[in-house]
Amino acid sequence: MVYEIKCAWCGKSMGTKECEHTEFTLSLKKMGLPIISHAICPICSKKALEDANISDEGENHE
Ligand SMILES: [Zn+2]
Repeated sequence: MVYEIKCAWCGKSMGTKECEHTEFTLSLKKMGLPIISHAICPICSKKALEDANISDEGENHE
């Protein structure tokens, strides 16, 4: 069984990954629901970091 990984920020698909057969994934499959895992893609991850840096303005961490 595989599940889909999607970026929680932009919704971009990041591919699929093999998942374990747990009670949870099996019940989702029974209901005909897709198994989606939310992650953050490299682009949004970079954006989030930049945003964090902006809110940190005034301090030099280097
Ligand atoms: Zn993204």
